[in-house]
Parts: sequence; structure tokens; C-alpha cells
Amino acid sequence: MLEVRNISKTYPGEDYGAVNNVSLSIVENQIIALVGKSGSGKSTMLQIIAGLMKPDQGEVLFKGIPLQDPDEQLIAGHPKIKVVFQDFQLKPNMSVEENIRYKLLHFDKEYQMERTAELLALCNISELAARMPKELSGGQKQRLSIARALADDPELLLMDEPFSNLDPLTKQDLLIELVDIVKSENLGLIFVTHDTRDAMLVADRVAFLSEGEMIQNDTVPNIYQSPKNLEVAKFFGRVNDVASLTNKANAYVRAECIGLGAQFDYQRKVRLQKSIFLGGKYLIEAFDEDNQELYFLYSDAAINIQNGTFMIGFNDAEILRF
Ligand code: ADP
Ligand code: MG
Repeated sequence: MLEVRNISKTYPGEDYGAVNNVSLSIVENQIIALVGKSGSGKSTMLQIIAGLMKPDQGEVLFKGIPLQDPDEQLIAGHPKIKVVFQDFQLKPNMSVEENIRYKLLHFDKEYQMERTAELLALCNISELAARMPKELSGGQKQRLSIARALADDPELLLMDEPFSNLDPLTKQDLLIELVDIVKSENLGLIFVTHDTRDAMLVADRVAFLSEGEMIQNDTVPNIYQSPKNLEVAKFFGRVNDVASLTNKANAYVRAECIGLGAQFDYQRKVRLQKSIFLGGKYLIEAFDEDNQELYFLYSDAAINIQNGTFMIGFNDAEILRF
């Protein structure tokens, strides 16, 4: 559906490119999470894909046709590519129902009513149809703003950290609903987030940007199990440096791959440093007194020990090497 080919963009007066030679493609019914630290170039990428910004180099093709230069078109972007903004962009003086229906005015009345009802139901806001935007919660506003985007009948949705103003629970519910909406409407979605959990919750593929470069673009299980470098690995959870423990250079193990006990390929006696209850499990910080190294691991139960020391370990297959 969409193909981004070798795009680069340097902002005027900047020494380094915000996006450097990045390629990406998306097919229909696919959700791609564009992730990376703040400043890694995610928003710049999204604006270029939306047709709102012109890259210095490279091109963006939608169904094989290059996007028009933003300077040369009357309405920014491509009619089949819609951006859902974080600030909702709702019409304050129209009801929820009108906010959707006014996008459909070029259709006959019957279809307007039918499609509006459909979008209200799809986005779970049918009961709110008569309310005004100021009477909605943040999550409800974002639902409406998604419904409005869908009213334009897009094929590709773009979202730049759309739910970052919402509380975690509302956000999680909305993310799960978003996947259903995108899949049921057969859309493509590029979802920008700096939150790994969000990415894992929604994405078929994760595209990881660092300093404007695409480091890895892979399925969620692959990017978790085989991160390309330490930065990608760390993005998906706590990572322990186990070089000295294993005598292998650049060897790392995820906190969740370290277990308690002595039945492992590699093990160490450690002293309990800190135990933090996370609800359901504990994050354990354990100190290796011989090597003066701190390890992070998770435990299902609180650690009850007499002398403060216990064994931890992991197996060879768990080691990540870069
Ligand atoms: P992200 O969305 O991942 O946080 P951005 O795409 O916003 O990253 O920014 C990428 C880089 O480009 C950053 O170094 C940022 O400071 C820079 N940048 C973003 N917008 C502008 C701008 N309008 N002018 C100059 N530099 C910018
Ligand atoms: Mg951004």
C-alpha cells in the first residue's frame, strides 16, 4: 500500500539529519509501530509519510504513485492517508454525532445517517452521540477523533503518540479497541510511540529508529528475541551485562531470563539489594560481591532468605550478543 524509499530530511540550519536514508513499507491490514527515543525522527518520518513535509531525498509512494509535493497541492497530504492528532481537532460547537456527520455531507442523507451510526458504534461512543466535545473525557475525545478520521474513508491511518495524554488504563483499552477497528476496516496503521508496551500491544511489526536511522524493522517476537543492538534490547526491558559472568565479550541477558536457583548453565551467588513489588511479581536487584556487579531479575514471590545471599542463573540460549 505505502512504500517509503530512502528518505532523508535535515531541518534548515541543523548539522545532523533528523531522518537518514530510511525505507519502510506497509500493506493493508497491517499495524506498524514506529518506535525510538525522543528525537529519533519518528514525527519527522510521519509528517513526510502524511505528505505534510517534503523530504530532501527519497520518495513516498502510495499504491505505486509518488505523493505530491506539499507545496504543490491545495489540501495537504493524500486523501486516503489520514492523521489522527493528539490534540483531537474536534469541532467544539458541534455534537459528537455532528462532528462525524459533517465529514459525510457530500453523501446522501440516508448514507450519512447510516455511516455515522456505524462509526459511533465502531468507536464505542453511540451513547455519547448528543454530547458536546467539552462534555467528553480524554479517551472519549480520542475515540471521536478516530471516528472522524474514519469518516473520510482512509486506507492508511497515521497516529503520532495519540494516547499519551490518557491514563494508562484508558490508554490500554483504547489500544486494544484500535486494533479491532483497524482490522475490521481493513486499514493500514502507522503508530508512533516511545512506549514499548504500547508498541507490543498493537503492532504486527516494530520499526526502531535511532538518531534518524532505521536500526531494525521486524515482527514483535523477532525484535524482542533477536534485537539488533543493545539499544534495541534495552528498549524492550531491563538487560543485564553478563560479560564477566560468562567470560564472553558483549554478552547480555534480559532480566526476565534470569532465574533463582542453581540449575543453570551460568550461575552466581548474589546478595539481595532491593526487592520492589510490582503487583504480581517482584523486581529484584541482586549484588554479586565477587564481581561488584548488580543484576536485575524478576521473581513471582518475595525472596525469603536467612543470610541475605542466594543463587541466580541463566542458560546459554538466553544470552544476547552484539
Ligand atoms: P521524535 O518524534 O522521535 O521525538 P522528531 O522527528 O520530532 O523526533 O525530531 C527529530 C530530530 O529533528 C530531533 O533532533 C529534533 O530536535 C529535530 N527537529 C524536529 N523538528 C524540528 C524543526 N522544526 N526544526 C529543527 N529541528 C527539528
Ligand atoms: Mg515526536
